[in-house]
Amino acid sequence: MKKSLLFTPGPTPLPPEALLAMAQPIDYHRSETAVTLIKDVLQKLKHVFQTENDVLFLTTSGTGAMEAAVANLLCCGDKVLVIRSGKFGERWGEICTAYGVEIIPIDVAWGNSVAPEAVESHLTAHPEVKAVFATLCETSTGALHDIEALARLTRHRPTLLVVDAVSALGADDLQMDNWGVDMVVSCSQKGLMTPPGLAFAALNRRAWNAVARSNLPKYYLDLRKAHQSGLEGSVPYTPAITLLTALQCALNRICAEGIRNTIARHNRLAVATRSAIKAIGLPLFAMSPANTLTSIRLPEEIDGKAFIKLMREKHGITYAGGQSHLSGKIARIAHLGWMNENDVIIAISAFERGLAEIGYDTPLGAGGTAAQEVFTR
Ligand code: PMP
Repeated sequence: MKKSLLFTPGPTPLPPEALLAMAQPIDYHRSETAVTLIKDVLQKLKHVFQTENDVLFLTTSGTGAMEAAVANLLCCGDKVLVIRSGKFGERWGEICTAYGVEIIPIDVAWGNSVAPEAVESHLTAHPEVKAVFATLCETSTGALHDIEALARLTRHRPTLLVVDAVSALGADDLQMDNWGVDMVVSCSQKGLMTPPGLAFAALNRRAWNAVARSNLPKYYLDLRKAHQSGLEGSVPYTPAITLLTALQCALNRICAEGIRNTIARHNRLAVATRSAIKAIGLPLFAMSPANTLTSIRLPEEIDGKAFIKLMREKHGITYAGGQSHLSGKIARIAHLGWMNENDVIIAISAFERGLAEIGYDTPLGAGGTAAQEVFTR
């Protein structure tokens, strides 16, 4: 009997009450019930974003919020720094270019994280840059970036720090207010345990001042409209109301656990996963791995694509493979969202078994034992 288990860095599994909420009859998005729902969700998101700033939502995937950041903060011809250490950092650059914004890329080898000193020297050399676009967890490699260090560089300069926390929100620490991050974007289908289709953004005063000056074209993604409506528990356009009901359930879980504990849980799952992978004898791909997911460099002698396919088709276990030039070379195991220690034990034990089945000589159980040792400490 096949049982499907999802260990991808989005979408992530949904808690049962979120699934049930979406099975209820659909409601009118301008009803009093919807107003209460929207206000409640936006209030609880502040806890997850670790901010007192308003959080707003868009009915788009995470990329919609990234595009909204560019379109709302900048002016035509502005210069920005873009940290490119994988597919999603590259996406910041592509969006900026599409909007006529000049990018100064800071390219980092995939698997590495940006050195804050590199950002500092670029800021010194180009004091005119309006913003730095960064990624909390570069999901394509599993690398975590030191956003706190980057914020120390930008918060006393006129340059804004804009962070893609699409995958890592709720898993890796991001203290928007304490660190002084100007804008954070995220989405529903990762740490927030909700299906794809909602994106979120939080902006501080400096970022809203930039919005007031921005002259780039925008309509659906105009954040002023989403912000104003959200404050009233309303929306400018028909929202994914069904997803909001699921999100409310997921946020109730995070708020009950407390965001600090949620992040600590993700850290424990990540530490156990890394320890297991090392015990199996495989290298981690990221130099500074995130809590969100673990990227593993697969042994050269195995066909990485065939491994991912085998796990899904034979065992019902979905890991993510590598993207772009890493296709077939790495596997990515997410321990993100509605996950606990037992999930990691399954993810690791199945991983070992799959490696053995595909012909890689590994002692069965080494990874599972290492993970359980972390959990019994
Ligand atoms: N940024 C990061 C770090 C991501 O992980 C993803 C999704 N994997 C995105 C952006 C894009 O989000 P979406 O696919 O929801 O548009």
